[in-house]
Amino acid sequence: MNHETMTVALGDRSYDIFFGREIYSLFQEWICRFYPGGTVHVVTDRNVASIYGDDIQRWLAGIPHDVLALPPGEEHKNFDTVREIYGFLARGDAGRDSLVVAFGGGVVGDLAGFAAATYLRGISCIQVPTTLLSQVDSSVGGKTGFNLPEGKNLVGAFHQPRAVFIDDAFLLTLDDRNLRAGLAEVVKCALAGDAELWDRLLAVGGKWKSLSGEEWRWVVRRAVRFKASVVERDEREASLRRILNLGHTIGHAMEKSGGYGRLLHGEAVAMGLAWEAILGMKLGVTGEELVDDLVTLLIGMGFPLDDPGAALTSIAAAIGMDKKRMVSDVDLPLVAAPGRCELRRVPLAEIRRELPGIRAEIRERSIARELNIPAGNAIPGESPVSNLVHVGDEVYEIRAVEENAAPAVPAEVGPGIGQERATAVEPESERAEHPAGPEPSPAPSEIPAAHAAVRTVTLADLYWSQGEHSTARRIVGEILRDDPANLRAQAWLAARAGYDLVEADLLGFLETMAKEYGYDLS
Ligand code: NAD
Repeated sequence: MNHETMTVALGDRSYDIFFGREIYSLFQEWICRFYPGGTVHVVTDRNVASIYGDDIQRWLAGIPHDVLALPPGEEHKNFDTVREIYGFLARGDAGRDSLVVAFGGGVVGDLAGFAAATYLRGISCIQVPTTLLSQVDSSVGGKTGFNLPEGKNLVGAFHQPRAVFIDDAFLLTLDDRNLRAGLAEVVKCALAGDAELWDRLLAVGGKWKSLSGEEWRWVVRRAVRFKASVVERDEREASLRRILNLGHTIGHAMEKSGGYGRLLHGEAVAMGLAWEAILGMKLGVTGEELVDDLVTLLIGMGFPLDDPGAALTSIAAAIGMDKKRMVSDVDLPLVAAPGRCELRRVPLAEIRRELPGIRAEIRERSIARELNIPAGNAIPGESPVSNLVHVGDEVYEIRAVEENAAPAVPAEVGPGIGQERATAVEPESERAEHPAGPEPSPAPSEIPAAHAAVRTVTLADLYWSQGEHSTARRIVGEILRDDPANLRAQAWLAARAGYDLVEADLLGFLETMAKEYGYDLS
């Protein structure tokens, strides 16, 4: 059996990370050597148990053990689930010399690790990570914990595992969405400290699904090596380890404001990486070219870079409500160059203030990327979508008459999770069903006469998907004003009845809080 070993050197808390395929006999040897005779308490989740129930028995063959399968997912990373683990350990008569095996993704690893850190004031734990994210990141370094409704990972403990077994065979059953989510942490590691890994990722780009087993192993090991080297130098996150929070200040806020479990952690981190890179650009740390490369890479990998369902007010409110909170400032890691990060003390209010500008920039860049407009070709301050024109407060879709039969630009915009992609240019068949709205009046003189301006339900969809709800509603309102029987526009409005009320309520609530308690909503 081929395997490799990497040691995390932490004095008497040092441990080995074993890499390989089908390394269960290595795992058994290790347990028999270091925990002979004791009962092993395996914590997993129901998804993993349903796929790997037999394998868990194979990994534990000949070793007395019991197994707890937790409800899966981030929404269960809470104290109720921790209590379930405590009960399991108590019923299993776990003692100070017992061993907990966290067999699953990052959620299982964080929960089981935390229970092990705190049960009987600390018992041993080993990690068998089964997702890409947990293999490249969460299983190494000893951070454990769970979420509170108020924020991500607000309760936790440092508790280094006794060993980590990274078997790439587990990745074979992981779906694309979870694999991609793990890639976000790989991108983070590359940006924060491994320029060679960054170059490799840029070369792979959107073709990551076709990486060979050997290439995956290389990528995983590089990311783990970087993480281990940071942990060795700053186990308790006194300073350097904070660079591993790259993308997580805004990422955690996105994850929380969407409701835990809606965005995958890695998806939120990908958004956070892009948003914080733009913040880094605004603060003069991150170069424009690097931002372009990052946005192109993340979009190419298939990440949405914005969550239109998350209002800026709720992202702003969630920023800082996580473990990195330091009164009113955060030590924000910003990328100075691929593989080189610096920590900048930034007031939370400043990050909140920049959010609208960052979101606008993300949308512009995402659209430009979708339309394949080379970096730097967009006119500053104007939409790079060539067939959208702003006239005063209004937005029009402009289409050359001669292009009407065959729209030239398939202007798709990156969707939010679970949303359909919106298309700015409608197919001819759809257009025939619901005639376009009127010509804008007065028509701006610079618009060539050969172009017809139209407003469509699809155009409204485009704006809605970008979070521009009032613009989207105005477009549909205009269509209905001129064509009250337009069924598609009616259905569009009906489907969104009440949606903005939720946002309006939240805004009203936050404004009341600001008035009553002097909160800064900037
Ligand atoms: P996860 O644990 O929720 O796993 C994702 C999904 O994949 C789950 O539904 C799980 O049941 C399923 N799954 C697991 N292994 C599988 C396999 N081999 N085949 C098929 N399905 C499988 O999520 P995750 O992305 O692994 O981890 C995210 C968590 O990790 C977050 O809570 C995050 O905060 C935490 N995290 C912790 C650290 C740390 O240092 N402790 C670092 C990064 C992230």
